[in-house]
Amino acid sequence: MSVNIDRIEIAVIGAGLGGAAAAALLAGAGFSVHSFEQAPAFARLGAGIHIGPNVMKIFRRIGIEKKLEQIGSHPDFWFSRDGMTGDYLSRIPLGDYGRREYGASYITIHRGDMHAVQIDALPQDRVHFGHRLNNIEERETDVLLTFENGRRVAAGLVVGADGINSMIRDMLLGPEKPRFSGWVGHRALVNMNKLHGSGLAFETCVKWWWEASRHIMAYATKGDGSEYYYVTGVPVDSWEHDTSFVDSSREEMEAIFGGSHPMVQALVDATETVTKWPFWNRDPLNLWSRGRLVMLGDACHPMRPHMAQGACMAIEDAAILTRCLEESGMADYSDAFSLYEATRRERATRVQTISNANTWLKQPEDPAWVYAYDPLTAALG
Ligand code: FAD
Repeated sequence: MSVNIDRIEIAVIGAGLGGAAAAALLAGAGFSVHSFEQAPAFARLGAGIHIGPNVMKIFRRIGIEKKLEQIGSHPDFWFSRDGMTGDYLSRIPLGDYGRREYGASYITIHRGDMHAVQIDALPQDRVHFGHRLNNIEERETDVLLTFENGRRVAAGLVVGADGINSMIRDMLLGPEKPRFSGWVGHRALVNMNKLHGSGLAFETCVKWWWEASRHIMAYATKGDGSEYYYVTGVPVDSWEHDTSFVDSSREEMEAIFGGSHPMVQALVDATETVTKWPFWNRDPLNLWSRGRLVMLGDACHPMRPHMAQGACMAIEDAAILTRCLEESGMADYSDAFSLYEATRRERATRVQTISNANTWLKQPEDPAWVYAYDPLTAALG
């Protein structure tokens, strides 16, 4: 029995944070785009995310900046503090200062809320959930994609926005598992009654630091202050589980961070449900595209999350890739892909390196090179 083949212009594989941005921007630029996502639907998992002004400018172009500004929290500062004494190590101005100097807001938000806004902004008949890509055949004039559900699609171009275990990356560079970085992160939305019960005033964006770079990044995920979240960074010997995360506990948090500053203790005491995630890594790749296949985001530059810029780099990639395709047109896609890589490689690698080193904003420093960057107007090439 022969299976029908659908023909499309551009397929974006993965509708995560980078893929959803790519689909929106490419469609906005007039390309005919379909997204294919393996998940049957997205859930509001308990985790937050920072979005810098560099990316809020892209969300302005997509038409979702205002909505995200309404939902998210707008910290006036990123504070870094000593986890034992509470001493301030740095106070990086954001808020009004950021809007004025960097051209857009800096927000912290629940990543499920942000992702839902991104997905809602896409033409719903072009987002195909429950489509897990499991075969790619590069042909003379297109790429034949086969999905686990049996559907086959012939696409003119394929954007691999399929995350750290990218199948497009495997296709281009051969299968290779990402490397365990030796670090895990605990993620928790804390119990607000318990947090308020401490009588302490919690800053809306603060990173607590201990020796050997152990840390807790804590922040509000809603503008009305009704949700507070933390993510840790803790070195461990190994990661033995084959799931993407495991349950942790308040007792584990107490064992790691107990005896710290009273505000940290209050965070630990307000912990109920907490999960533990491994951080994976790859060295910078020497190939971002081949033929009609191109990658963005964690597929080509995964990083430890300590600069809060992994998704931001994926979304910046999406903006630059769109501009390059607009400039060259579909027919000259290989010029577009070369220009894209030439524009993105240095910046993404720099962010990846600093993120992995976990030094960002620990001491006073000027973050303008990250936040003031405008991917919609930056020079290409
Ligand atoms: P993903 O978001 O991983 O999306 C990939 C998508 O592809 C998924 O939906 C997946 O289901 C789909 N997919 C995979 N394979 C297939 C297939 N074969 N077929 C179809 N679909 C497929 N970044 C920030 O900018 N700010 C932060 O504050 C921040 N905090 C973080 C905190 C933690 C603890 C972690 C772990 C990361 C953090 N990041 C942060 C990084 C950020 O989450 C990632 O960099 C970002 O999600 C990468 O986006 P992506 O679109 O490349 O990949």
